[in-house]
Amino acid sequence: MASSDIPSSVLIIGSGAFGLSTAWALCKNPQFENTSITVVDRNTFPSSDGSSVDSSRIIRPDYAAAPYARLATIAQNRWRTDFAPEHYHEVGLAVTASGPEQKYVGDSLANVQNIGVDRVEVLNSAEEIGRACGLEQNHDEACGRTGYVNWSSGWADAAGALVWLRKEVEKYNRVNFVVASVKKLLFDFEKDTVSGATLADGSELCADLTVLAAGAWSTSLIDLRGICKSTGQVLCYTPISAEEEAAMAKLPTILNLSNALFRIPPSKGMLKIARHGHGYINPTTIPHPESQNPNETITVSLPYTHVTDPNLVVPLEGRKACREFLQSIHPSLATPSRPFTMTRICWYTDTRDGDFLITHHPKWKGLFVATGGSGHGFKFLPVIGDAILECVQGRTPEEFKERWRWPEQRVSEEQWVGDGSRGGPVGMVLSEEFAKGDTKL
Ligand SMILES: Cc1cc2nc3c(=O)[nH]c(=O)nc-3n(C[C@H](O)[C@H](O)[C@H](O)COP(=O)(O)OP(=O)(O)OC[C@H]3O[C@@H](n4cnc5c(N)ncnc54)[C@H](O)[C@@H]3O)c2cc1C
Repeated sequence: MASSDIPSSVLIIGSGAFGLSTAWALCKNPQFENTSITVVDRNTFPSSDGSSVDSSRIIRPDYAAAPYARLATIAQNRWRTDFAPEHYHEVGLAVTASGPEQKYVGDSLANVQNIGVDRVEVLNSAEEIGRACGLEQNHDEACGRTGYVNWSSGWADAAGALVWLRKEVEKYNRVNFVVASVKKLLFDFEKDTVSGATLADGSELCADLTVLAAGAWSTSLIDLRGICKSTGQVLCYTPISAEEEAAMAKLPTILNLSNALFRIPPSKGMLKIARHGHGYINPTTIPHPESQNPNETITVSLPYTHVTDPNLVVPLEGRKACREFLQSIHPSLATPSRPFTMTRICWYTDTRDGDFLITHHPKWKGLFVATGGSGHGFKFLPVIGDAILECVQGRTPEEFKERWRWPEQRVSEEQWVGDGSRGGPVGMVLSEEFAKGDTKL
């Protein structure tokens, strides 16, 4: 789309970080002052099982890939100053490893040093990691053998920041927010065009430009096989006293890339232990989203969440991993009298190399895809909408042109290399983990 081709209407599917930030960017940009903007989401805001809605998300420039380190630095400066600063806490992040993920740690350290972060402390042993992170115990396998702490990184209350942004968007009084589930995009098979979406009740939302920002559900609305894969990640929460919370509030997040487990400072009386790993897949056979033939199907991994099943509990394997991690680093908080009272599976939209997918669809005119967060998209909330709009207008930032484009070929998921940041178990299928049964932990 040339910058002269300003759409008269934009429909954004999804009001998570990618969708809402795009709506904000449209509102702010005078070129789009006559464009009508609709945001549709299947859940009332903030979408309780959306990837962007949680007590916390890490905000870091600590990336092995320099372009993300640079963009995250720009985003982080906003978090520090004018973007929901009350929801941002700069307490540091320790990135550690004990296996091949040490390469990611080393590259990331070099990048943050290159961008001039001076509050970095290299950690050469489990003891040093334990001291920097305020751990009660330090074992290599739990907390990592080497790493560094970037005291300039932090975390944000994700749900709080998203609500903050929604209020900013509402100030413009330009966006029509619709709560409804998109069933299918409106395809014109003769003109290879998308002109909006059909909702679950059969009604239609039409637009010149449709932006698909449905996160891990995007794979149900277009064929993203070999391009994006939804993977379920484990989150476990345990209540914590006000004194304990205060004592841990200034500790850095510790993220061990080798076992993929992390502890982030507690918030609102809950301590969260989670896994940034390969995740579970949930293969599901659905009607081919881009086909005219109702009998044609595809099988893709789709989110299975507490909205799908209100009684959903993380599989035993995941709770055990989080429990053992907590036990290793903070035994006093992992006694039998302190169970995880809340668990959640939160879904990444993974790509083969951890890059986002922010691009016009190569076939369908009028369709723009903004997804592929790959477990690291939230921190960009202050800037990702502007970047998406640049891509919409054909001005993709040079260093992201290759990274964010629609891949030339679909690659089978077994061959994906990832971005080097993921450790922990591989190849887990959610239904198989559920089928193993559940012994109370
Ligand atoms: C457990 C976990 C930990 C993470 N940790 C970090 C971190 O520490 N730092 C970081 O930067 N990033 C992190 N991320 C990644 C980050 O949260 C995501 O990249 C980002 O939130 C993705 O935003 P999104 O808008 O693409 O998706 P979402 O926030 O999921 O938004 C998609 C929206 O689309 C809606 N939708 C879906 N289908 C339909 C439909 N058919 N019709 C209408 N609406 C629909 C959904 O309801 C949802 O609200 C983490 C992610 C997870 C899951």
